[in-house]
Amino acid sequence: MSGILFYRNGEKWLRNILVYLSQAAWARQIISNWSIAWLVASRFVAGEDRQAAVDVGQALNENGMMLTLDYLGESCTSEAEASTARDEIMRILEDINRHQLKANVSIKPSQLGLKIDPALAQENIGAIVQKAKQYGNFIRIDMEDHPTTDATLAIYRHLRHNIGLDNVGVVIQSYLYRSEKDVEKLIEEGASMRLCKGAYAEPAEVAFPKKIDVDGNYLNLSRMTLSRNALANGVYPAFATHDPRMIDEIKIYTKTNNIPSDKFEFQMLYGIRRDLQESLVKEGYRVRIYVPYGTAWYPYFVRRLAERPANLWFFISNFFRA
Ligand SMILES: Cc1cc2nc3c(=O)[nH]c(=O)nc-3n(C[C@H](O)[C@H](O)[C@H](O)COP(=O)(O)OP(=O)(O)OC[C@H]3O[C@@H](n4cnc5c(N)ncnc54)[C@H](O)[C@@H]3O)c2cc1C
Repeated sequence: MSGILFYRNGEKWLRNILVYLSQAAWARQIISNWSIAWLVASRFVAGEDRQAAVDVGQALNENGMMLTLDYLGESCTSEAEASTARDEIMRILEDINRHQLKANVSIKPSQLGLKIDPALAQENIGAIVQKAKQYGNFIRIDMEDHPTTDATLAIYRHLRHNIGLDNVGVVIQSYLYRSEKDVEKLIEEGASMRLCKGAYAEPAEVAFPKKIDVDGNYLNLSRMTLSRNALANGVYPAFATHDPRMIDEIKIYTKTNNIPSDKFEFQMLYGIRRDLQESLVKEGYRVRIYVPYGTAWYPYFVRRLAERPANLWFFISNFFRA
């Protein structure tokens, strides 16, 4: 028993270090220059340019999966960097349209200026959502760490309700205590919501420290987004998880309540649990794969290591083999 506790605490400790390393500039500089790091990261990242993303997208579409493309980069430090990211995202929307990919785009507010000035992020995200609207496409605003939650939801609500753009959706993290209240409100508003557990190291003041509570809340929130009232309001839930238990519970719940499989979708990250991705497609569920691309792959890659220490051992064993 004490061995298990030690292992669990050790895992949490390791996770916190990795989440710290994912944000540390010094670590980014050292690790992203190791060729072995890219070798392992390329399991989770389509490639460094748009063509690589399009190639992966076509292959996924051929296998019956939709995708959401993510141009990698977070926490820009200047207006110019934010504009560069916005322009690249506009170009990927053009590429999706040109290649007729079954794909939408996920964006990070901090990449578009949120931490410089929320008004700047709102302007950039607004321009992207308008452009997507011209192509009949959809933009998902990813959710980052908790100090950005209010500002991210405010930008979403401004675009959705003040500007009247209906091709934009948000993300809810089940590890946050506040999420149940946020979901209640978003259901009333008929929002398109992606539900995930949450990927950042958050303090116990704002987030459940225990996985069992994060999982329990995930199931609670997923049932809320699938309620009769939510679906009648136009809520379209996307269940972003690789956790077979969450997925099985959602399958049982939707079957028991006669909810057709086109009223929701499952989402998973590129390169993770491909077996599960394929089996869901075979069973007739909608599956969307989150496909990141771009040169700024370091923080994304280290967060994936933090989620599953086995990935870290894979990285270390390759490092010593190289
Ligand atoms: C499409 C998508 C979009 C997301 N968007 C956001 C977002 O906007 N904001 C945010 O904070 N988080 C986001 N996340 C990340 C999410 O919050 C979790 O950190 C991540 O999905 C791991 O949680 P899990 O639900 O898969 O369950 P866990 O309980 O962490 O894992 C369940 C099982 O999944 C497998 N698994 C999970 N992670 C990995 C991995 N890295 N490598 C290999 N196997 C793994 C393992 O088999 C594990 O046992 C997103 C995730 C997905 C799939």
